[in-house]
Amino acid sequence: MSDQTRFILNESDLPKFWYNINADSPVAPTPVLHPGTLEPVTPDFLSVLFPMDLILQEISTERYIEIPEEVREIYKLYRPTPLLRARRLEKALGTPAHIYYKNEGVSPAGSHKPNTAIPQAFFNKKAGTKALTTETGAGQWGSALSLACNFFGLDLEVYMVKVSYNQKPYRRIFIESFGAQVFASPTDRTNYGRSVLAQAPNSPGSLGIAISEAVEVAATSNGAKKYSLGSVLNHVLMHQSVIGEEALKQMDMADEYPDVVIGCAGGGSNFAGIAYPFLRENLKNGKRTRLLAVEPTATPSLTKGEYTFDYGDTAKMAPVVKMHTLGHDFVPPGIHAGGLRYHGMAPSISALYDAGYLEAVAVKQKATFEAALQFARTEGIIPAPESAHAIRAAIDEALDARAKGEKRVILFNLSGHGNFDMSAYESYLGGKLEDFEYPAEAVKEAMTRLPKVELPV
Ligand SMILES: *Cc1c(COP(=O)(O)O)cnc(C)c1O
Repeated sequence: MSDQTRFILNESDLPKFWYNINADSPVAPTPVLHPGTLEPVTPDFLSVLFPMDLILQEISTERYIEIPEEVREIYKLYRPTPLLRARRLEKALGTPAHIYYKNEGVSPAGSHKPNTAIPQAFFNKKAGTKALTTETGAGQWGSALSLACNFFGLDLEVYMVKVSYNQKPYRRIFIESFGAQVFASPTDRTNYGRSVLAQAPNSPGSLGIAISEAVEVAATSNGAKKYSLGSVLNHVLMHQSVIGEEALKQMDMADEYPDVVIGCAGGGSNFAGIAYPFLRENLKNGKRTRLLAVEPTATPSLTKGEYTFDYGDTAKMAPVVKMHTLGHDFVPPGIHAGGLRYHGMAPSISALYDAGYLEAVAVKQKATFEAALQFARTEGIIPAPESAHAIRAAIDEALDARAKGEKRVILFNLSGHGNFDMSAYESYLGGKLEDFEYPAEAVKEAMTRLPKVELPV
């Protein structure tokens, strides 16, 4: 056992249930508000956008929710995913720490995102939805959802941030290969897109604008089309719990238990996916694992954002939630981790971080790519720029353990591979990447435009 590198589960170990943190969370959930009235939303409002099964999951306090057999059948194309011990990286670092990583990059879309795309497509199909709409920034979410819609025979419209549409043709072609339509947002297909174009004909687009377009198309389709979101929402985080549930079994195979669990955090879904099952063990079984979310210094919603009610999108059409936010009109710096550029953070992560159950750190872009290449050159996988944030933090933990002479057990989530991100690596190798620290004054200024929520909170 002692020289084992890969820890592989059988198909029969594929989880049968998703884990819902809301059953065990020591912090009360905060209300979700209508963006117009700023009163708690009704299921009616949500049902314009989402099928009832997903709405029920969103508000559920059941600890375990059964994974439908149809979903498990498709999970089996790539799950259980492998857990590896990064022995060669440990050696290069000269650390007494043991470093493990869960490789979600083995999914057909190359990231953890199919873990939620597949059930979202399934529950929509079951509810009679004909088509889904969504946004995509870097293209990972559009890829995952196109794959899932293809399996369940649903049409899909993807509103892709225009700058990515132009810079990442291979992600667009991936999405089109599974039969989905891709539009460069802002488009002239929606009222909101036309209003943006009227003011700024050359707008490069943003995730907030693309969300607004996708939401508008679904909301005005008389029920034929529903909207699908790849992160932030409770049900998305819950679907990702398969990562942590498998990792618990695999750490057991390795006869170790992590002192620290690490994930990069954009909207928070892959971090929650690996961390929440370990948080359950902390809360219920006396374990004391540190849970560390890693974000870029360019989009530091946890470490610099305020914990307050804010809109989920730029056009103020999506629900208002209490979260760590940089402001809904945040325009992200052009960093290469496209999946980490959202202005907010999942409400449950925000609340648990605020109450001290989770930790967070922000890392710089150049140091992140340096870690990515050290990982690539020792472990042989070029990581997604997003995942490289988790690698940076894992390496920093291992170096800290070396300095202190501690045998620390570190587990991180490799949320995806970087094989479609070569232009980012080209920039790094060509010495063209810059560090960017989002200024605290900009956050403070954006807080003047928050929704004026008057709730007894
Ligand atoms: C989308 C994405 C992320 C960020 O999303 P989360 O919801 O925070 O997990 C991280 N890594 C990869 C590879 C992604 O595609």
